[in-house]
Amino acid sequence: MLNTPKELVVNWHITEACNYKCDYCFAKWNDNSKEILHSQFKVEALLKQIENIRHLLNKKSNTVYFDKLRINLVGGETFLYRRQLKNIVNLSKEYDFKLSAITNGSLFNVENIELIAKNFSSIGISVDSLNEQTNLAIGRTSKKGVFNPSEVLTAINYIKEHNPNIEIKINTVVNKLNISEDLSNFIAQAQPKKWKIFKLLPVYSNKLEILNQEFSQFLGRHSNFESIISAEDNNDMTESYLMIDPLGRFFQNGPADGYNYSAPLWETSAEIALQQINFDSQKFINRYKRII
Ligand code: SF4
Repeated sequence: MLNTPKELVVNWHITEACNYKCDYCFAKWNDNSKEILHSQFKVEALLKQIENIRHLLNKKSNTVYFDKLRINLVGGETFLYRRQLKNIVNLSKEYDFKLSAITNGSLFNVENIELIAKNFSSIGISVDSLNEQTNLAIGRTSKKGVFNPSEVLTAINYIKEHNPNIEIKINTVVNKLNISEDLSNFIAQAQPKKWKIFKLLPVYSNKLEILNQEFSQFLGRHSNFESIISAEDNNDMTESYLMIDPLGRFFQNGPADGYNYSAPLWETSAEIALQQINFDSQKFINRYKRII
């Protein structure tokens, strides 16, 4: 029997480039080929295949039906290449895709705020610390200055003013440097629909790694926000995410800290590329039920 129709989410890491240099950044694919967001032809070809994914998964499953597709744009920093981002937004509209994005919150200006308010159903902002020294130590700083929580709150208010239906989400990575912080004040003002809290994954370095007990203490300190907090188990991420890298390939965690890749979706059909990775629609739905 078919479940209620669901929204399928495809996470596209449009670029690895970022104006911040966080110590624990895992947006690294170590491939020097040119990222496809700079090529009109490749972006168009990719989006066409993304459109096919939903239909292929619906055909394959007797129990899961996706009636909508949302592209979640991830980085690097998603607002770094504004012209290319605008192009993706415009092309996505032609396919009637819903759009969301994750940003480090450093490039909010009037134009970007309008772009978000007009075209995105949700925007996720990474906020790890409210403390200038901690943000400096993490690497959340650029030529323009250190991450500024008040500027982010102002931007959130403008975005909501322009689009009262937009969902604001906050992402926080808990690590050795912010473990004792209390973000309650910020969260109370930002009023996000969801607050995703991640325990730092020691992917490239374990110097900021924390213990499970420390992570629980952080969650306990913020228990007032229990109803909007989601903390994901990393094991559940395998096979329940559809992720595309900056070169247009599906990627998934592989053995020995590496990734497994499909062929690029701008030159291969979605049908073939889906056969090259493991994606389980039912696991996706189960995850969806728990965290959305
Ligand atoms: S803001 Fe995100 S993408 Fe940029 S360096 Fe930090 S973790 Fe990486």
